[in-house]
Amino acid sequence: MTAKIPAMKKLPSTPRLLLGPGPSNVNPRVLEAKRPPLLGHLDPLYLQIMDEVQERLRRLIGTENAMTLPLSATGSAGMEACLANLLERGDAIVVGVAGVFGERMCEVARRIGAEVVRVEAEMGTALDPAELVAAIERASPAVVAFVHAETSTGVLQPVEEIAAAAHKAGAMVVLDCVTSLGGVPVDIDGWGIDAAYSGTQKCLSCPPGLSPITFSERAVKRVAGRETPVQSWFLDISLLAGYYGSERIYHHTAPISAIYAIAEGLAIIEEEGMEVRADRHRRAAEALVASLAPLGFEPLVAEAHRLPSLTTMRLPETILQEGEAQVRRRLLEEQGIEVGGGLGKLAGSVWRIGLMGENAREENVERLAAALR
Ligand SMILES: *Cc1c(COP(=O)(O)O)cnc(C)c1O
Repeated sequence: MTAKIPAMKKLPSTPRLLLGPGPSNVNPRVLEAKRPPLLGHLDPLYLQIMDEVQERLRRLIGTENAMTLPLSATGSAGMEACLANLLERGDAIVVGVAGVFGERMCEVARRIGAEVVRVEAEMGTALDPAELVAAIERASPAVVAFVHAETSTGVLQPVEEIAAAAHKAGAMVVLDCVTSLGGVPVDIDGWGIDAAYSGTQKCLSCPPGLSPITFSERAVKRVAGRETPVQSWFLDISLLAGYYGSERIYHHTAPISAIYAIAEGLAIIEEEGMEVRADRHRRAAEALVASLAPLGFEPLVAEAHRLPSLTTMRLPETILQEGEAQVRRRLLEEQGIEVGGGLGKLAGSVWRIGLMGENAREENVERLAAALR
């Protein structure tokens, strides 16, 4: 036994079951994979691990894009990377806004100086592809961006029709895959996506801190042809290409241990197979709705648009009366289970229950239902 580290004294003696909007629980193999001693970030052995991570990412997201890499920052940085590289001041962007993360895309684009055209959907509903198509035809934007899996509501957005309309108008398509990747199939090349980003702490079940990103050749060309340099030095993909491409020259120090972890996390996904994994997510989400129905919980989102990895539930009167935040707190402190509260307009009336990656199992649904009973 190694000595307890003082700062770790506050950790609970049994691990929390993380059924909120992320992070999710990490497979013990991933935690183990983080432990080995560091290698240098230019060590040939380390570069082999990086190559392998990039190759596994390409397979998982369905792309041959050379520019596919685990960005050294969280999902929000992946969002900034996609928008900051593809947009210049004054460019138009059409953003599908159906929740908090679509809203965040607008704010990032606004700060870049882009002209933001919003196409909105009521929280809990999907975007209307026809409305997006009409907006794209009107605005002829440089970029069309939307969220595949909106974590603030639990809606899974259909992609292909919007992507096709964007291409017809000559726009680049940016897709947020933070809560879809590893939970539902993602097919970047098949769908015609030009840039996409994800995060490690949701359905990939790795610790937070990395954002897998990908840029199509078309997107890379557009960045090369910019009139002004990308405002962010750190996120400029033409500079990142020096390290993540074949040259492997210093750009910033890669987070070695986090890369060990994602290498193992991606290997685990390949062992299971994405189809089996997606099926596991679907079954767990169905079990959740069925198990909580007798307690008075009702799903917010219509079945056709429901996201398996995150389910938003309207709360029963009993919980509203006790105070939903109070009940969540008791779940956490007495049962060791974390669930998420509502965001924005939905705050106070719903819970967001994540069954992501490792956690998408019926035994976890049973544990939550038993705790609530
Ligand atoms: C979590 C999340 C993000 C932001 O990721 P961070 O890792 O928290 O920066 C972006 N988009 C969606 C859909 C998310 O769920």
